[in-house]
Amino acid sequence: MALAAGLSLSGAPTIAADGFVGIAMPTQSSARWISDGHSMVEQFEKAGYKTDLQYAEDDIANQLRQVETMILKGVDALVIAAIDGTTLSAALDLAAESGIKVIAYDRLIRDSGNVDYYATFDNFQVGVIQASSLVEGLDVANAKGPLNIELFGGSPDDNNAYFFYNGAMSVLQPLIDEGKLVVQSGQFGMDKVGTLRWDGSVAQARMDNLLSAFYTDKRIDGVLSPYDGLSIGILSSLKGVGYGSGDMKMPIVTGQDAEVPSIKSMLANEQYSTVFKDTRELARVTVGMVEALLKGGEPEINDTKTYDNGVKVVPSYLLKPVDVNRSNWEEILIGSGYYKMDQIK
Ligand code: BGC
Repeated sequence: MALAAGLSLSGAPTIAADGFVGIAMPTQSSARWISDGHSMVEQFEKAGYKTDLQYAEDDIANQLRQVETMILKGVDALVIAAIDGTTLSAALDLAAESGIKVIAYDRLIRDSGNVDYYATFDNFQVGVIQASSLVEGLDVANAKGPLNIELFGGSPDDNNAYFFYNGAMSVLQPLIDEGKLVVQSGQFGMDKVGTLRWDGSVAQARMDNLLSAFYTDKRIDGVLSPYDGLSIGILSSLKGVGYGSGDMKMPIVTGQDAEVPSIKSMLANEQYSTVFKDTRELARVTVGMVEALLKGGEPEINDTKTYDNGVKVVPSYLLKPVDVNRSNWEEILIGSGYYKMDQIK
C-alpha cells in the first residue's frame, strides 16, 4: 500500500495509514480476548495501520453485523476470532469480492474458501498439556486407584474445542482403557461433554448434576476443564458439596488462558493448573501476516496440514502453549511481563 501525504482538517500534514484492519473479537467476558484486542490495536498502530476493534459479546448475529460493517467501511484486511466458526461464509464471500484479506484468529473459520491464513496455538497440544497436568496432579503413576475423573469440553461451535478434547483424550484414553482412570458418568465425546459458548454457569450446572447423580457415595478425584472460566464454575460446584474443606481434598482441576481469577484460585490451592497462551505473541504473528499480505510478501507459516476448514486446508502459524501451575506461574506470567505482581497478590 502506497504512503500518501496530505493535509488534515487542522492543516497539519498527515500520512495516510498503511492500511485499515477490522478486528472482530468474540467477547469481553473473558480477559484473554481483551488482551488479544488490545495487543493487536497497539501493534497494528505501531506498524502504521488504522484499526477498527469490535467485540460481539458472544452473539453470532452481532458478530456477523460487525464484520459486514467493517467490509462496508472499506477495511483492507479482517482479523476474526469467530464465535461460531461456521456462520461467516456469506460475509467472507463479500470480503473476497472486495479483495479483503482474511485471517482466522485463534479459532478456525470453517466452511469458507475465503480464509487466507490462520494464526493460532497448537490446539491439540493444549489438550495434551491439560490432560498431562491432570495425570501429574492425580499422581496416577503412584496412586492406588482407580481414580474417578469427569471430562468437560469447550463450545461445540468452536473448532478448537475438538482439538483440545482430542489432545486430552490422547493422554487419558489409554489410562481409562487400563482401568487406572474411571469416568463414573460414562459421558464421553464432545456431544456429551461440550459446554455451549464456553459458559461457566453451564459447566457449573453440569458439575452439580454429575455430583448428585454419580458421586454421592464416591469421591471425584479430578476434572478435565478446558478453560479457566469453566474451571471457576466447576470449582464452585465442588466447593458447594464440601470439597476443599475438612478432609475432602479438592479434586485436580485443569484450565486454560492463565486468567487472573484462576491464578488466584491456584494460589489458594483450588485450581491445579492452567495453560498460558501469550496473546501478545499471537497478535505479533497476526500483524506480520497482515503486513505480508498487504505489502505483497509471504506470511510466515509453520503448518500446512492440520487445519482443514471443510473447504480448504488453511495455512497456519501455530504458537506453543505453556503449562502453568503453582511451581512456575511466577517465572512464566510475571517474568514475561504478562502480568504485574499487584494484579495477582
Ligand atoms: C480459545 C481458548 C479460550 C476459549 C474460550 C478458545 O477458542 O482458544 O483460549 O479459552 O476459546 O474463550
